[in-house]
Amino acid sequence: MSQLPLLELPQHTITPAPEPDLCDYDIVVVGLSGKDGVTALMEMAARCRAAGVFDRLWTVHADLGLMEAPGVHFEGRYYPSNRELVALQSTYFGVPASRHIETHRTVLDGTTWRDQTLIEYVAMKGMFPDAARRWCTSDLKSTKIKAALTPLVRHLRKQLDRPVRILNVLGLRADESTHRAERPTYQCTTSNQHRHVDEHLPCHHFSTAQVWRAIEDSGVPYHWWYDSAPGRGDRAGASRLSCSLCILGSKGDSILAVRRRPRLAALYHEVEQRTGHLFKLDLPMSRLLKLAAQPGGPDPGVVLDEQNPEFDALEARVRRHLDQPVKLKASTAHTTDPGCLACTGCG
Ligand code: SF4
Repeated sequence: MSQLPLLELPQHTITPAPEPDLCDYDIVVVGLSGKDGVTALMEMAARCRAAGVFDRLWTVHADLGLMEAPGVHFEGRYYPSNRELVALQSTYFGVPASRHIETHRTVLDGTTWRDQTLIEYVAMKGMFPDAARRWCTSDLKSTKIKAALTPLVRHLRKQLDRPVRILNVLGLRADESTHRAERPTYQCTTSNQHRHVDEHLPCHHFSTAQVWRAIEDSGVPYHWWYDSAPGRGDRAGASRLSCSLCILGSKGDSILAVRRRPRLAALYHEVEQRTGHLFKLDLPMSRLLKLAAQPGGPDPGVVLDEQNPEFDALEARVRRHLDQPVKLKASTAHTTDPGCLACTGCG
């Protein structure tokens, strides 16, 4: 059997090999949001079963509330939101609901804690995130997921009397960007006295077509946002899924989102106007609204009116922040650095 050169072996990972041995880990956790995450789950569910460690498999979703691809009633049927769908996908592959974790960014409002979603946070900071300052991912996803695992880590740490070994599985793929192509498929990301975390990308080599084929073959439900309209099954809608209006999304996906969610787009526009900071340097919301109003481009398939108390409350909170001096202001400079072309965990 041919040996890999020593330099190609991952450094400091629990398994000293190019691929993790799942039996080496106490927790295998798969981040879910979109087609790539569910493909990674499919892969890991099969591998965990084969290794006899399926009871160590967990799923996690960092919920972004009203920013996420929503649920919709269409032609007499309900199509679930991204948050609802990932829970269904987790169950579909046999992970019990007790091992599916959902995280949220929460803030203290008076004496009660409540969820805070991205556009409110943007209004509070007075700036949108961008490719080089993707605090949306770090503050609303990565740190929340890490914190959500802490109780489990504490519990296992006592039992094991050593750092808890976590395999963090992501659906990132090489063909999404040069940056992602260069990302190791197995690497150590955290090591301290409480937890050792290795990251693994089991679908790194998959093409988009392979991802869709795997989803189709497995029969797992996917989000309607990818289709031209709910239930069409043609995957002629958005190419990616997570925040409907993503600061790193393509022009086509952004126009589609503006057409599907005009109330959300109007709120982004208001924030852009009031803060003076652009949603995207090359494609501000003011321009996107004009493009979406012109003929041509993606047909929304369905237009959500989103006239509901939840949205009213979000809008009121956003406006309250816009009326106050910015508390968290940092640099408002924009960058076009294409370091990472999409959110970790969305796909
Ligand atoms: S989907 Fe886009 S806007 Fe939303 S958290 Fe990820 S990078 Fe940020």
